[in-house]
Amino acid sequence: MNHPARPPSVDSLLNRPEVADLKERYGHSAVVAALRAELGELRETLKTQPTPDVDPARIVTDCRKRLETEFSPNLRPVFNLTGTVLHTNLGRALLADEAVEAVLAVLARPSNLEYDLDNAKRGDRDDHIDGLIRELTGAEAATVVNNNAAAVFLLLNTLAIRKEVIVSRGELIEIGGAFRIPDIMSRAGAKLREVGTTNRTHRKDYVEAVNPRTALIMKVHRSNYAIEGFTATVPEDQLAELAREHGLPFVEDLGSGTLIDLSSYGLPKEPTPQQALAKGTDLVSFSGDKLLGGPQAGILVGRKELIAKLKRNPLKRALRVDKMTLAALEATLKLYRSPELLSRRLPTLRLLTRSEDDILALARRILPAMQTALSDHAVVSIESCRSQIGSGSLPVDRLPSACLVLVPKGKGGGRALSRLANAFRDLPVPVIGRLEDGALRFDLRCLEDESGFVAQLAQLEL
Ligand SMILES: *Cc1c(COP(=O)(O)O)cnc(C)c1O
Repeated sequence: MNHPARPPSVDSLLNRPEVADLKERYGHSAVVAALRAELGELRETLKTQPTPDVDPARIVTDCRKRLETEFSPNLRPVFNLTGTVLHTNLGRALLADEAVEAVLAVLARPSNLEYDLDNAKRGDRDDHIDGLIRELTGAEAATVVNNNAAAVFLLLNTLAIRKEVIVSRGELIEIGGAFRIPDIMSRAGAKLREVGTTNRTHRKDYVEAVNPRTALIMKVHRSNYAIEGFTATVPEDQLAELAREHGLPFVEDLGSGTLIDLSSYGLPKEPTPQQALAKGTDLVSFSGDKLLGGPQAGILVGRKELIAKLKRNPLKRALRVDKMTLAALEATLKLYRSPELLSRRLPTLRLLTRSEDDILALARRILPAMQTALSDHAVVSIESCRSQIGSGSLPVDRLPSACLVLVPKGKGGGRALSRLANAFRDLPVPVIGRLEDGALRFDLRCLEDESGFVAQLAQLEL
């Protein structure tokens, strides 16, 4: 008669020679916990299946896999083949090598983060970037916080608490991830005074709204949508003049805020902070990790006394950036001192300016490897497509690109397609594409590690 199989004990497994290096790598308690978890699963199996595999060597192998998974980072690199260059869900701007090195240098060693080396006294962490930002934007003063949402929050809370802020109804935007101008305004303690209509706002709308409780006139870059047709907005210089007539600051949330003229690279024009300042805007806020191509940050530039007020608000302390951000931001900004080299060194600009021919040539090079990897499962072809800049550059501006189009073979329709997409997401470096019209599309604009991409195709589990 066959006796039911019995799982080995934790102690007997712990004494096996191949467990020694697991203990060395992960520590005794984590190995015990993983072995217990494996044995627990085995006992569950025993209830329904009288003769499971209770081989101790296999249990240890499974335990090793469990520990590898548990200890591998959950936040990790992916291939962004979505066709959106600055993809908020995929981490937005990629840092330049120079920025990565600058971060590494201060990570595990002390730094002069808030120490003035010239005078041997306490320093201000903003000093590391203040001069650079002033040099690049022409602003009187600058400061940096955690992100642009925080920058807008800080400026409203400092300059408009319990007072009114005049904004056009056409600019009451929501940015992905629940950043809504009306909500941020009320949380900051300011009262929104909406003027005009969704499509048209005139100078007289602003004029009529000004009253003794008004603190600011504000303009918000529409970023992720466009209003077309019968439209009217008031230009910044007119708003700045109007604000000045009433002794009010005129502030602008620029959103992306590139520091260069993108049209000189053949890209759609985006307003720059230096242009906004030249038109008389008193305070401008923008993101660090959108078109600027740096770390997540919110940069505020403008009049000295306004920046000084922001820095005196106790919230500035709560919203301040850390040394990693400052190191990356300083290195990124320094790249702008060599504009001729920028499109090579700054990954965001490099990807945005990549030519259609270059992307098409890449598509042709990797097509055969894709066809081999997917032979029985999908038909692969090359199509031209259009990439998006993302993160609040107009959705109507598209960049010509090339993509690989994967259509599952045979029947199965939607299910076969999601199986295909899952298989690519299950790769060691997950590949993220776009599902559209019954096909899985990989826009190759952001594929730079060509050999890494091709090498892992052999591990596709279809
Ligand atoms: C992106 C954006 C924000 C939010 O910036 P974060 O850096 O993501 O916090 C705010 N306003 C506008 C107009 C934007 O485009």
